[in-house]
Amino acid sequence: MNSIEKKLRHLQSSIQKKVTLVAVSKTKPISDLMEAYKAGQRIFGENKIQEMTDKWREMPKDIVWHMIGHVQTNKVKYMASYVDTIHAVDSMKLLKEINKHAIKNDRTIKCLLQIKIAEEDSKYGLSEVEAIDILNSEEINQLNNIKISGLMGMATFTEDQQQVKKEFKIIQSMFENFKADHPLLNTLSIGMSGDYQAAIDCGSTMVRIGSSIFGTRNYV
Ligand SMILES: *Cc1c(COP(=O)(O)O)cnc(C)c1O
Repeated sequence: MNSIEKKLRHLQSSIQKKVTLVAVSKTKPISDLMEAYKAGQRIFGENKIQEMTDKWREMPKDIVWHMIGHVQTNKVKYMASYVDTIHAVDSMKLLKEINKHAIKNDRTIKCLLQIKIAEEDSKYGLSEVEAIDILNSEEINQLNNIKISGLMGMATFTEDQQQVKKEFKIIQSMFENFKADHPLLNTLSIGMSGDYQAAIDCGSTMVRIGSSIFGTRNYV
């Protein structure tokens, strides 16, 4: 067994069965992704549309592609024909754009609303109120080719596990509250290589893991 396969198998046995593993393959060569593919991995996450599209073109078509990075509205068109889920949606404008291109491709695209939970200023995301406004808006019901399937969040990048858990608990309780009014929400995308255990303890249904599978990256 090569090392990517070993790391994948280790991860698969340490996360629970009900938690979906998105293998974050950004910056990694197709040969690495293919090793994961051969080990059975089918869900891959990328954070740049151009890079993801290049990989999509070259790789087997049963791969499920997740865009986990920040998305500019003018680039949605490049992935609309194949992307399964877009994790970092943070505006109605972007939702409308995704819907428009999903219609053109006669598809439905799943979207997660990114919630700002980290205390760092640099992170993107919606406040709780902004997310509620989107979920309850009239406009959202007109967007028939997107499905808001849940929430996504990134904790502060810190060794302090208490801080990380505190932030995950905030998004967990939002998720539970939102689900009461919007029963179709079924995905809570939290947890990366350094904090996925804490995320799973806080109700994560989808973890996005890169370096623990593919090794460290030279750049983000
Ligand atoms: C890069 C990235 C990940 C994976 O990070 P690792 O620490 O390598 O597991 C997860 N989520 C997002 C949004 C990322 O950009």
